[in-house]
Amino acid sequence: MNQIEVISDIILQSKKVVVFTGAGMSTESGIPDFRSPGGIWSKFDPNEFNFQKFLSSPESREKYWAFSAVTWPEMAKAKPNLGHYAITELHQMGKLDCVITQNVDGLHQESGVPEEKVIELHGTARWVVCLECSKKYPREQIHSRVEAGEKVPLCDSCGGIMKPATISFGQPMPEKETHEAQMRSAACGLFLVAGSSLVVYPAAQMPLIAKDNGAKLIIINLTSTPHDGYADIVVHEKTGEILPQIVERVKAKLKG
Ligand code: ZN
Repeated sequence: MNQIEVISDIILQSKKVVVFTGAGMSTESGIPDFRSPGGIWSKFDPNEFNFQKFLSSPESREKYWAFSAVTWPEMAKAKPNLGHYAITELHQMGKLDCVITQNVDGLHQESGVPEEKVIELHGTARWVVCLECSKKYPREQIHSRVEAGEKVPLCDSCGGIMKPATISFGQPMPEKETHEAQMRSAACGLFLVAGSSLVVYPAAQMPLIAKDNGAKLIIINLTSTPHDGYADIVVHEKTGEILPQIVERVKAKLKG
């Protein structure tokens, strides 16, 4: 039996499917992987964007927003790909417990997965948040202000420092989301990794939590990951090519 057959059977047999997604899914939608060689970090120094530095240094904040003005338009124009839509179909079939994602692009929600089923471990780039009063602004609105010449936009309500609602280097992980992800991972029947190389912690810990609690673990990623040895099935392919084939088989088998 080929892997697509086996995986579709496991999905059918599993009560709760948690899908865990990473940069691979975003790059297939044309969003540059900032960590890859020749990526944006070759033009900007990541140490400039350490959270403590952002808080303490006005120059650092100015550089951050200049960097943002370059990266945001790339992300804003990206659309969900076939891999995202395959995951949405799992939701429509009643198979999806939740998506835990390392991505900050909001493409799962855009492809039709309800907001409450998406756990964003590294925050979201779609919103800007005031670090003083927690007021949220749509990213596009603040981006326009930067484009219009504001070097460091400040909160309209309280004048506080604002930052895109992503988790920066040196910034603590969001407590509620991390806890929720751990709970869901521990309770699922199948943990399906899609497009993550599983190197960034604590995100990369989730598949191990799932496996230790009795879930099946399937890893779909273009390159090998440190957790391949723990997985029941490993597929080194593009998520946008494999996920739709798997979901088609699930649908066909459901129809009987
Ligand atoms: Zn404020």
